[in-house]
Amino acid sequence: MKPEAPQSYSIAGTTYPAKTIEPGLYAVATPIGNLGDITLRALEVLAAADLVVCEDTRVSRVLLDRYGISRPLAAYHEHNAARERPRLMAMLKGGMRLALISDAGTPLVSDPGYKLVDEALAEGVKVIPIPGPSALITALTGAGLPTDAFVFLGFLPPKAQSRRVKLSAFAEVPATLITYESPHRVAETLADMATVLGADRQGVVARELTKHFEEFRRGTLAELAAGALADPPRGEIVLLAGPPPERVADADDIEALLKAALATTGPGQAAAEIAKATGRPRKELYTLALRLKAVMDAGGD
Ligand code: SAM
Repeated sequence: MKPEAPQSYSIAGTTYPAKTIEPGLYAVATPIGNLGDITLRALEVLAAADLVVCEDTRVSRVLLDRYGISRPLAAYHEHNAARERPRLMAMLKGGMRLALISDAGTPLVSDPGYKLVDEALAEGVKVIPIPGPSALITALTGAGLPTDAFVFLGFLPPKAQSRRVKLSAFAEVPATLITYESPHRVAETLADMATVLGADRQGVVARELTKHFEEFRRGTLAELAAGALADPPRGEIVLLAGPPPERVADADDIEALLKAALATTGPGQAAAEIAKATGRPRKELYTLALRLKAVMDAGGD
């Protein structure tokens, strides 16, 4: 297969010539439901690629047809990836421009592509990510849960025991947890989340994002689990759990924190920092810091 001249794409009947793009592997994010959610850069790359590597050619053809893009498609999925990768690598090393997409959202995110990207980088092929939609960020954006720290767990294990073990590894992480789940397991996964993470922890079920039946169910994990049993959510689903309640620092924690701070700063600053971190009164911490510093200066610990 030889590199071809770039083609074109069209938006609402207007056709635009695609620009020439440099050789390499383009990991292109595509919509997660609403076909309007695609960037101009994604269209330019898809229209200019020598080959569009996708999971299911029928699914991706719908997207390309919508934008008047007629580029060759090649299927690359978990069942043929090991066989196909050498062929794709040979094309990349030959200077071709490959666009990697998945059925929906960002490739590599719970989708094929990691090994291809890894191999491409190892072989000195340029990898260019083209950002766009992903269900996890879309869910987080609309969930109303803290966003300053979040952990994406991908799909949890389908077996209950392994799922609980995985959840328990993240139970104390001070972050919003995000998982993908298939609709027929949502009720049992939410029940496990309530048991392992805490029944009163806030959660969100985000379903059919960007589509006609988009819905956010909010509540405690226990409420959401009960709701999923009574009225099973259908379609594509992201589950989120808010961070665990902050653990109140006990006296030993406070002393340890103050001692650590006193190693690099004075009692006033140390008290201010630990007051901010723990919510304890600064005056009380300052008195304690003075006492600890006196002991430390005297050679004690
Ligand atoms: N690569 C995709 C991404 O960037 O989000 C994820 C692909 S993964 C195989 C498919 C899972 O993503 C679904 O089972 C669901 O959990 C989630 N998902 C994808 N599209 C979604 C949507 N429109 N609404 C809610 N969840 C979605």
